[in-house]
Order: sequence, then C-alpha cells, then structure tokens
Amino acid sequence: MKIIDILRQDRPTLSFEVFPPKTSDSYESVAQATQEIAALRPDFMSVTYGAGGGTSSYTIGIAAGISQKYGVDTLAHLSCVSSTREHVHKMLAEMKAQGIQNVLALRGDIPVGGAPAHDYQYAAQLVRDIKASGDFCVGGACYPEGHPEAPTKNADIDHLKEKMEAGCEFFTTQMFFDNNILYNFLYRIREKGITVPVVAGIMPVTNGKQIARICKLSGTYLPEKFKAIVDRFGDNPAAMRQAGIAYATNQIIDLIANGVDHIHIYSMNKPEIAAGIQASLSEVLKP
Ligand SMILES: Cc1cc2nc3c(=O)[nH]c(=O)nc-3n(C[C@H](O)[C@H](O)[C@H](O)COP(=O)(O)OP(=O)(O)OC[C@H]3O[C@@H](n4cnc5c(N)ncnc54)[C@H](O)[C@@H]3O)c2cc1C
Repeated sequence: MKIIDILRQDRPTLSFEVFPPKTSDSYESVAQATQEIAALRPDFMSVTYGAGGGTSSYTIGIAAGISQKYGVDTLAHLSCVSSTREHVHKMLAEMKAQGIQNVLALRGDIPVGGAPAHDYQYAAQLVRDIKASGDFCVGGACYPEGHPEAPTKNADIDHLKEKMEAGCEFFTTQMFFDNNILYNFLYRIREKGITVPVVAGIMPVTNGKQIARICKLSGTYLPEKFKAIVDRFGDNPAAMRQAGIAYATNQIIDLIANGVDHIHIYSMNKPEIAAGIQASLSEVLKP
C-alpha cells in the first residue's frame, strides 16, 4: 500500500524505523529485531539507507522482506549525494522488481572532508528522478528546528516547498523533544502553502550520553525536564529506558491530542522500545 493512502485515513498512525546491519555478521540480529517489530503490526516500517553506519546494500532486501514475509507496508530510504544517477536508477529498478512502492528521498549527509557531489546536490533532484522512474509514493525529510546547513528557517521552508512541488507526498520530521517546536513549524509551513501530511519523528531516548552528543551535533534543543531525566538516570540503563519510553509516550499523547496524528518512532532496532511505546498508547491510537 502507498504510505500516502495510509496517512489519508482519518485516524492516528504509528510506524517504526529500523536500520540495516553494519556488517553481514550482524544480519541475523537485525533480521530478528525486524521480525519482532513487524509482529507489533505497525502501520508501516521504514528502513534507513547508509545512515548510522548501516549498509545501504541491505536496505531494499530488508524493506521487501518486511512486506513479503510479515505483510507490513514499508518505506525504503534512498540517499543521493554520494551516488551517481546511474546507481540511483539501479536501486530504483531493484525496488520496482521487489515490489517496493514507497521511497523516502534524502540528500544524505555531505561526507566528512566535503567530497564533491556527483549528480545530485539536493533531495528535490532525487524526488524528481524517482517520480519520473515509476509509480512510487515519495516522501522527504523535514526539520522543525531548521536543517543545520540552512541559513534561516524561512530559507529551509522554501526549499521544503520545492521538495513538495518536485513530488514529495509527505514529510517525516527530524527528532524533536519539545512539541511546541513542531507546532510552530507546522504553523509556518502551512502558512507557506505546504499542504502534505507531516509525520512526527519521535526518538525514545534510552542512552542519555549518546543523545546529548547527537543533539549537540544536530543542534536539537533539549528541554530542561529532559536534561534532568538524563542527569538523574543516564547511568542506569534500565531506569533510562523506562524514563525514555515515558517521555516519548507523553510527547505522543500531546501530539495526538493536538491533532498531529502520524507518529514515526526511531526505534533503533529495539523491539522492546517499540513494544513499550505501543503498549502505552493502545487506547490513544484508536480512531
Ligand atoms: C526522517 C529522516 C530520515 C533520514 N534517513 C536517512 C537515511 O536513511 N540515510 C541517510 O544517509 N540520511 C538520512 N537522514 C539524514 C539526511 O540525509 C540529512 O539530514 C541531510 O543532511 C539532509 O537531507 P535532506 O534530504 O533533508 O536534504 P535536502 O532537502 O536536500 O536539504 C539539505 C539542505 O539543503 C538546503 N537546500 C535544499 N534545496 C536547496 C536549494 N535549491 N538551494 C540551496 N539550498 C537548498 C536545505 O535547506 C537544507 O539545508 C534522514 C533525516 C531525516 C529527518
């Protein structure tokens, strides 16, 4: 099924993200985690491409496997900045052959050292190529706090609109820990005429030190109440996991209460986190 058709249904949706293994040695453990997350019957699952050290060559196989073996709709990520057009077209042909209908079109991070782009500079170019290559539903990334490279939030929103005009049918957000940032972003993008559904990306934090580092790099705002949780429980993995699930759950309840119905969990290949969140939302997610 196309993700846009899932998002058009008049009800809250919950989806989970997984990432491919870094090496073939860890393939089995990722496959196991994927199976357990699929067993939760989310509305869809996304599979990252080359992010977080995962190997991009596994993305299509894992995404196709999830829908073929477990009957869960999938969204395969695809990035372009380090790729040639020829490689992108090869990946799209493989997706088509495997029955993948949904692609999250990403630029990807500029490699350290600033290696020059090959055929693509921005995700919008990839979006156009994908739309011209077949009947794919295409989504893109968006940044409630602004993309770190954008000179202003306005400029970033203008470029987001270009992605919509290129063919993006929905956007998934970068993680954020203060819902007011998302509400402000939604107000601003709607005012600029960005009309497509926005799926809120929620990161349940289970490793306090790691998240502090990631947020420093990406410029993600950490509210004081979140910092207090990390300060208090950061060295106690079980307590941090419980507090991280509770924080994410509270965020999601507030989002759904305020009409943000589509929630994507950065579940980091951890079925227990995905299951914990889903269990806490069983009534909240009902139409
Ligand atoms: C939900 C989500 C999933 C992700 N999954 C992955 C993944 O699987 N693999 C991976 O490698 N990375 C992934 N990323 C990270 C992403 O690749 C990086 O954040 C990357 O730096 C930007 O990608 P983008 O697609 O948003 O780029 P773009 O939309 O191209 O934007 C990148 C920057 O360029 C600017 N820009 C866009 N168009 C123009 C223009 N015409 N002129 C001037 N400036 C312009 C934008 O304002 C922005 O600052 C993901 C990010 C998110 C939020």
